[in-house]
Amino acid sequence: TTATTALFQVQGLVKHFGALRATDDVSLAVNAGEIHALIGPNGAGKSTLVNLISGLHAPDAGRITLDGVDLTPLPMHARVRAGLSRCFQITSIFPKVTVLDNLLLAVQSSGGRHPGGSGRGLPRVLHTLLADRARDDALHAQAVSLAERVGLGGRLERLAGTLPHGAQRQLDVALALAAEPKLLLLDEPMAGMGPEDSERMTALIQTLKQDMAILLIEHDMKAVFALADRISVLVYGKVLTSGSVDEIRGNPQVQAVYLGT
Ligand code: ADP
Ligand code: MG
Repeated sequence: TTATTALFQVQGLVKHFGALRATDDVSLAVNAGEIHALIGPNGAGKSTLVNLISGLHAPDAGRITLDGVDLTPLPMHARVRAGLSRCFQITSIFPKVTVLDNLLLAVQSSGGRHPGGSGRGLPRVLHTLLADRARDDALHAQAVSLAERVGLGGRLERLAGTLPHGAQRQLDVALALAAEPKLLLLDEPMAGMGPEDSERMTALIQTLKQDMAILLIEHDMKAVFALADRISVLVYGKVLTSGSVDEIRGNPQVQAVYLGT
């Protein structure tokens, strides 16, 4: 078969912590419109891989590319600008600020689109005022649309910290979407959720994949099997195997790893 270039690629990634190879020559690819799930027992190196991809850690070897751009030498904020967005834990939410204001901050800091063109021929001061107003309106519309997209349209004025856990995670996803990512990194989005919240989050993630590639790290196998187009199994820092949901489900080695933990 011809080697088509995937939207997102990790090639030969290595990360040592002292003598420990937390990431040991990891390669994986995510195509546009695809959800690639990464599973593996505790200590397998999943979070380390996420930290390497987002730029929190520098790898000892290997390369990370997104849409033809080499992300490896770039700092975190430049990776975000290149189209990589990470869904952080709830720590990125400002708890004492409303849902709407959290989203406005995210939209504004990701450089929301500036509307232009109108007001030509007006005095400069008036022009600037109108442009600022139009920009405010556009940012506001973008924030509201993000809230609606994750199912929080009815809770714009709630203080984020007073939302139930599941809704805070939905807001967390909306904040990550503000950057309009090409690849969304989700590190255990179902963590600490009951079955109802977990199903809501699964449905939400399903709606996102038409617009972006997703790398999903998740322990909830029900969610993984429902969402993944492809699954990679990480064990002791290495990719044990990679395949479709059916291939991974039926793989005795994978079953052994999971029964063994
Ligand atoms: P997972 O997310 O799959 O549970 P981690 O990536 O958190 O696994 O950890 C992989 C291995 O790397 C573990 O043995 C862990 O103890 C080790 N590790 C992770 N982060 C660090 C660090 N900052 N310093 C030293 N060891 C680390
Ligand atoms: Mg982890």
